[in-house]
Amino acid sequence: MRTQRKNWIAIFPNGREVLNLHSPRGLAEYLRRIEEMLERQGGICCLSRFCPLCPGKLLLREACFEHEEGRGASGGHRDDRIWVEGRAQNGAAHYWCNSWKGSKRLSRFPSVMRESSEASSKDV
Ligand SMILES: [Zn+2]
Repeated sequence: MRTQRKNWIAIFPNGREVLNLHSPRGLAEYLRRIEEMLERQGGICCLSRFCPLCPGKLLLREACFEHEEGRGASGGHRDDRIWVEGRAQNGAAHYWCNSWKGSKRLSRFPSVMRESSEASSKDV
């Protein structure tokens, strides 16, 4: 399988997706995914338990795309997918929490929805 490149998205052979934020469609999809992540997190910032600046509750206008890194074959590369094989990936965070995290590497990505989605999943 070759990398599929469209003007708004690139899909790599391992499934990794990178949206083109310079294209209206890519940007719209990016924002839609942030909104979906915010919803699956129950309106709480995904860094709430880690960032001392975080008030917890996250409004859409404060939300940015928090990339989880270092997982799986795509480690170290940006992956804009928010679901990978039925599991939640990435999260929505306050932009100030995102910048607090900055270059810090959290050993485990604190996606609040991951725990509940894993709890309800039947796979091992
Ligand atoms: Zn936050």
